[in-house]
Amino acid sequence: MVRGHAKAEAQQKNAKKLADAKGGKSLKEIEKAREAGNAIICPKCLVGMPSYKIFSQHFESKHSGPVPDEGKFR
Ligand SMILES: [Zn+2]
Repeated sequence: MVRGHAKAEAQQKNAKKLADAKGGKSLKEIEKAREAGNAIICPKCLVGMPSYKIFSQHFESKHSGPVPDEGKFR
């Protein structure tokens, strides 16, 4: 079933394109990270972090600009 496989692959590519167009990760993924015990989600790369202190260290080393205020995550 070569044709069927090619079709499935094309659909996967389309889905990925759609996700990229929307800016990658969805709100649902952020919620999932929260449920997994990550108190802070980096707004730039959407990686979950267990505390604001760890997040601010991450933000300073990985991203430019001011670290978002802790109050924004409450
Ligand atoms: Zn980040």
